[in-house]
Formats: sequence, structure tokens, C-alpha cells
Amino acid sequence: MVPQSAALTVMCDDGACADLDVVDVLTQAGVRGVFAVSPDLVGRSGFLNFAQLAQVRDAGHEIAFHGTTHEPFTDLRRKGDLPAAIRDGMKRLADEGLFPTTLIYPCGANDRRVRALVAPLFDCAFTTWYGQNDRVTNRYAIRRMAFGAYAGRSTFDEAAYRRCIERAAASTCWPTWMLHPGAGGHTREHNVMLARLLTHAREVGVPVRTARQHLAEATVHAGDALASAAVRPSINGGSRV
Ligand SMILES: [Zn+2]
Repeated sequence: MVPQSAALTVMCDDGACADLDVVDVLTQAGVRGVFAVSPDLVGRSGFLNFAQLAQVRDAGHEIAFHGTTHEPFTDLRRKGDLPAAIRDGMKRLADEGLFPTTLIYPCGANDRRVRALVAPLFDCAFTTWYGQNDRVTNRYAIRRMAFGAYAGRSTFDEAAYRRCIERAAASTCWPTWMLHPGAGGHTREHNVMLARLLTHAREVGVPVRTARQHLAEATVHAGDALASAAVRPSINGGSRV
């Protein structure tokens, strides 16, 4: 289950240097995003290093875990290596002051056993399955829409993303956009389009949140609802006196 409230989350996979352009877009809009990294890729040519990731974190963005080696978790599970691989990668991030609570499955690969294995280790996990998310979405199989690179026919133009935001406002669902800024299909024009769409989200009242923020905000609101429900009996009780 995920919260039943409207929000938009922008996620960059793989930790490429080009992610910094998206950081700029998010910063100018006054919002935060999610950046998913694999420790084996950090610092390689074309990828952010740990000092840069610390700056991204310090700017308020969320750093998510994207597998230690970026191998699909379904393959590692079949070899029996998955728990050790996750422990190794998370320790390498922790040693650098990064403590992810969100998982992005490498290549989106997951199955029931993988989900059961990661559930005690992370607050939520994201797939590459297409769609928006509402109350009944499995928190360890959250859907995403590709933005820029890998976008399919249903999300190839700006109008589709605008409709996505408007649907979130109308039906209190949670679309999450999957960006691969380091991939060839992601252009500068996508960053400009993202800036326009973040303005649109603000105009229609859809908050842009990290995954961690959204789960926490919705929990707070659920707490408010419980608190007001708890007050009601005493009011009713008072009226009976
Ligand atoms: Zn990836």
C-alpha cells in the first residue's frame, strides 16, 4: 500500500554526471528529487563521484539504492548472492555517509521472492512497470513513467505529462517519473520541458516530493485523520451530557 494523496516524484536512475542538469532544474523550481546510484558505478567515467553525491544529498535530494553492481536482482537471487550483494553495497554507501531507504530495482527486475527479500531492508521499491500509483499499489512494486529516454508511445509528448499531473490532482494518485539523464534519449529539451511541467504541477497544486518525503507526509496526514477521529467521540460524548 502507498499513500492515497496527490504527489509527483522525479527520479534519476544510474547516477550519471548529466543528473546535475536535473538537479539544477529541480533547484530552480524549489523542489527535490530522487537519485538512484549503484556503488560500482560511482566515480567511473561519466558518473557522479561520492563528493558530488554528498552535495546532491546536502541540497535536500534523496539518494536511493540501485543495486551494488546494477545486475538484475532476479539474477542475483537465483545465484543466491542477493542478500550479500545488497549488504555490501549499502555498507559502501554508508561509509560515504549515504543511507538509502528507497530501492530502485536495477533494470526494474523483481519478482515475489525478491520483493520479500528487500521488504525488511527498504521502505519502498520502484519498478520500471508503467503506470501511476494509488492506495492499492504494492509498496515494493511501485510503478513509474519513463520521461525522456525509454519513453513509450503513451508518454512521448508534453501533453501526456501534463495530463498525468492533472490526473494526480483529480484522483489523488502518485505518478513517479523515471529519468535516465545519461542515456542518449534524454536531451536538453527534456530538462526544459521538465521545468515547464514542474511549474504546471505547482499551478494545479500537486506537490513534488521525494519518495521518502511522500511516504512521511502521507503518514503525518494519516496521523492527523486518526487524531481528529479520536477527538470526535469526546465531542459526541459531551453533547450527550
Ligand atoms: Zn539503472
